[in-house]
Amino acid sequence: MKKPLLELTDVSLSYHTPAGETDALSHISFQVPKGSFIAIVGPSGCGKSTILNLICGLLKPEEGQILLNGTSLPEKPEHIGYMLQKDHLFEWRSVYKNILLGLETQKRITPKKKAYIDRLMVTYGLDSFRKARPSQLSGGMRQRAALIRTLALEPELLLLDEPFSALDYQTRLQVSDDIGTIIRREGKTAVLVTHDISEAISMADTVIVLTRRPARVKTIIDIDLGLAERTPLSSRNAPLFKTYFNQIWEELNSHA
Ligand code: ADP
Ligand code: MG
Repeated sequence: MKKPLLELTDVSLSYHTPAGETDALSHISFQVPKGSFIAIVGPSGCGKSTILNLICGLLKPEEGQILLNGTSLPEKPEHIGYMLQKDHLFEWRSVYKNILLGLETQKRITPKKKAYIDRLMVTYGLDSFRKARPSQLSGGMRQRAALIRTLALEPELLLLDEPFSALDYQTRLQVSDDIGTIIRREGKTAVLVTHDISEAISMADTVIVLTRRPARVKTIIDIDLGLAERTPLSSRNAPLFKTYFNQIWEELNSHA
């Protein structure tokens, strides 16, 4: 079998604070094959963000191990891109300069990188907004700019922590469709954390369902909607979508 890009084995973690101890994760194991899109769903407060913070090296597991490309995580995993609910675009910089920011701070701007960014901006409709300020963009375009800024670093792995949850329902559908399509087209490996079952099914190849805190892996469900070319929107309209929805709903609401 091909080695997974990312592998968590038996990962456990508790937060120790003066106020007491919070068991967050209990024996979490899963694998992320290269090129796949994994969604992690679980009740709010169960430990989802904690998992992403472990993967990007902000936290260290108390037990278990995390391997990237078969080796333990480097001190500064620069090949991991993180996308959050807030887009963190700076108003005092143009859209283009915002997109360059990550590369700039890492001192990695090269003509090749610039050409790559140009291609992304043209392909994904931001080219005519190069000189605009973030406030001139719609919520969806801001998220797209944030994604391109992350992609500019050419991360091997993208982590998305409820990146759409601040958007209203209609915009959320459009933006998740947009972002999901870009990530697939660019052939990226992604781990999305969400409490939105529909979002998980529409975007992911595999959905990992977590229990309430301390999070354990309840079940892992491969999504096969029988579609030749998948976009988040076509997924939502697939006849099997509802079956998966009900299955995941049951898993989240049965406390066995
Ligand atoms: P989720 O992302 O699923 O909503 P989190 O991973 O953010 O959940 O948090 C899991 C649990 O750990 C929650 O009960 C939260 O209050 C607690 N927690 C998160 N971060 C910290 C921290 N830095 N110190 C103490 N407790 C924390
Ligand atoms: Mg969270």
